[in-house]
Amino acid sequence: MGAMTTKGRLMAGTSGTGDPARDGIEPDDGARDARRVAALRRVALLDTPTDDAFDEVVRFAADALRAPMAAISLIDADRQWYKASVGIDTIETPRDVAFCNHVVGADAPLVVDDTLVDARFAGSPLVHGHQRARSYLGVPVHAFGEAIGALCVLDHRPRGFGDDDLRTMQFLAHQVEHLVDLVTRRSSATPPARQVVVDLAARLSAGESFDAVTSSVDRPAWIYDVSTLGIVAVNAIAIDHYGWTRDEFVRRSILDLRPPAERRLLAAAIDNSEIDHYSATRLWRHVRADGQAIDVRIASAAGTHLGRQVRLVVVTDVTERLVLDDAIDRAGRLDPTTGLPNRRELLDVLARRLERHPVTTAVLCIDLDRFKLVNDTLGHDAADVLLVAAAARVRQCTPPDDVVARIGGDAFAVARSACTIEGAWLLGEEIRLSLERPFLIEDAEHYVSASVGVAMASDGCSASGLVEEADAALAAAKALGRNAVVVFDESLRRSITETVEVQRDIQSAIERHEFELDVQPIVDLMTGNVAYEALARWMHPTRGRLMPATFIGVAEESGLIRPLGDQLLELGARHAAALGTPVSVNVSARQFDRSLVHRVATLIDDHGLAPGQLVIEITESAMVDDDHAAIVLAGLRAAGADIWIDDFGTGYSSLGRLASLTVDALKLPREFVADLDTPNGWGIAAAIVALARALDIEVIAEGVETERQLEQVRELGCDAAQGYHLGRPRPFARELADRRERPPADVG
Ligand code: C2E
Ligand code: CA
Ligand code: CA
Repeated sequence: MGAMTTKGRLMAGTSGTGDPARDGIEPDDGARDARRVAALRRVALLDTPTDDAFDEVVRFAADALRAPMAAISLIDADRQWYKASVGIDTIETPRDVAFCNHVVGADAPLVVDDTLVDARFAGSPLVHGHQRARSYLGVPVHAFGEAIGALCVLDHRPRGFGDDDLRTMQFLAHQVEHLVDLVTRRSSATPPARQVVVDLAARLSAGESFDAVTSSVDRPAWIYDVSTLGIVAVNAIAIDHYGWTRDEFVRRSILDLRPPAERRLLAAAIDNSEIDHYSATRLWRHVRADGQAIDVRIASAAGTHLGRQVRLVVVTDVTERLVLDDAIDRAGRLDPTTGLPNRRELLDVLARRLERHPVTTAVLCIDLDRFKLVNDTLGHDAADVLLVAAAARVRQCTPPDDVVARIGGDAFAVARSACTIEGAWLLGEEIRLSLERPFLIEDAEHYVSASVGVAMASDGCSASGLVEEADAALAAAKALGRNAVVVFDESLRRSITETVEVQRDIQSAIERHEFELDVQPIVDLMTGNVAYEALARWMHPTRGRLMPATFIGVAEESGLIRPLGDQLLELGARHAAALGTPVSVNVSARQFDRSLVHRVATLIDDHGLAPGQLVIEITESAMVDDDHAAIVLAGLRAAGADIWIDDFGTGYSSLGRLASLTVDALKLPREFVADLDTPNGWGIAAAIVALARALDIEVIAEGVETERQLEQVRELGCDAAQGYHLGRPRPFARELADRRERPPADVG
């Protein structure tokens, strides 16, 4: 402090040359001043509105030194601009008349006891003008190691400033530096507006050099070749920030800047969409030369550079920002995987949109069909990759005005304002088509179609109500067999109310054990032995005995099929034990996972069932994915259950696939049996039986209603038959009672 004081004192007095420009910044110090000005530009305070925090420091300085005037002066290339001031009525002056220019030039405090006797200031308009600045004390303010300006006080009369005054001012100047630092970090933590980057890229395409285009960019920037992903040019700030030399940078691809996990996400986004695959809101991670990971946001735009297609990338390091402030809030509003707003954020934005566009706002709910399959087979990481790629596709279909959100595991939503119902439907189609194209993930193609539900806002509807309607339309699209776009309408509204009621009913029916199983005999055509298929019935307290068609579908859609299915499986196992025969239980695709294996194993144990006595009937649709199916099938068989394929040949038909699945029998559907009189029908059935025989899989003919059909299926070589001709489904209790009275019927 003492030394500084001395230096300040030395600067005072009459030792100046009288040439303000020379005394401030030496002419040959051009490079140094350029660095200084660059630092000043980087803090981006010039020409910004007043700020209470800076004003307060200035007021405090004036009070503390009992001076009528005080200011924070920033010294630009050719002007001084006051960030804050008291008692001074200008906001800027030419640089060469500024006292503070001398503080900055010497990077040291300056004390002028009487400006009139100092040759450097004697001619200054500040001295002779109406402000009559007769004495001055200024201390430098730094940013990025450069003196960018000064904190100063001025008085209308000559006066001497003491060491205490200087110390106070230096303390306050440090406070200003902290403020500058904070403001800089705040503003540099906000990515530039997209348009800014688009404009820069346009200048690049127009032939301006990379250096010229990025000279105004205050953060890391580079361009990369879109076909090779190699970095083509990089600015000095990036080199400084990442710690690689320019040469090292241009030998890298943009993927090399990522940690491995992110590399896959980015590669997928690039492979699967043609546009800007960076979401401005998404947080990415980069790795610096020293191995340290940083959190960044990326703004980018396409352009051309020396004949190549490139993207200009501007990086905003938000690592500190995240630590500093609203990381928690952000985490609550943005989906970390895709960087898209989450459901909560969508609802907020949508609510505001609805205020301005009450009846011209549309919401689209988009669900990836078969996504769960990808998740189960490829694993969580690959599923994330797919999601990012899908998100990029959806964004590609939507202009920036549309809100794209991720509202569930595999569900996205788009909110669009100022549009018609036709426009919304067209957008839905466009999105559906874009998601139908294969996704390239780690060099393999994957197909996931999408179902889309569309809802238009009606007067007075709520954000959540609108999303619910779009969701309902989505459910309808799925019910239509997926890969479809459905618009919400009145009939949907009605059927939804009904569905919701049935759902509620099913829920309580499960709790009250209103479900029972009928059993229908399945007769072995060689031995006459009988097994049973268990068929669900709902003993509804008011509507009577309900058939599966009225409730299985609803239960599957709502997820209630799990608790319901568990209950039915348990009943089936108990009946198998009581009847002492095999009993087959129908299992929905949605139940077909590893937890089913565990349940079945427990049931077989608990009820002391023999191997093959509990049979799982499953349709082919549950086995679209071979690997996953194989695991569950193997688990079930290891637990001691037999597996029958229900309605073989009606779903994802694939005689060839049968070979890859280990099952005990397949059920020849009723439609096929009914068709045996036609040559074609006979041919198909014969082919199925022949194939099954070759694979050592039994065939059970379903829906045998006549003696003729029974003969036909016998002739075909079916092993067993089931149908009204052999016995209708009947309540388990009745069948059990009868069985105790009579031996099984002889059909041989
Ligand atoms: P499914 O598995 O193909 O069951 C056979 C259906 O055909 C039963 O209808 C049965 O009553 C009927 N059926 C049997 N023999 C004949 C016949 O000779 N002629 C005719 N026309 N029909 C015959 P149901 O009981 O209405 O079951 C319909 C479907 O509901 C079942 O088809 C099955 O997919 C599903 N389902 C039944 N119970 C359950 C269950 O416990 N869980 C699950 N997930 N689904 C079930
Ligand atoms: Ca069945
Ligand atoms: Ca069947």
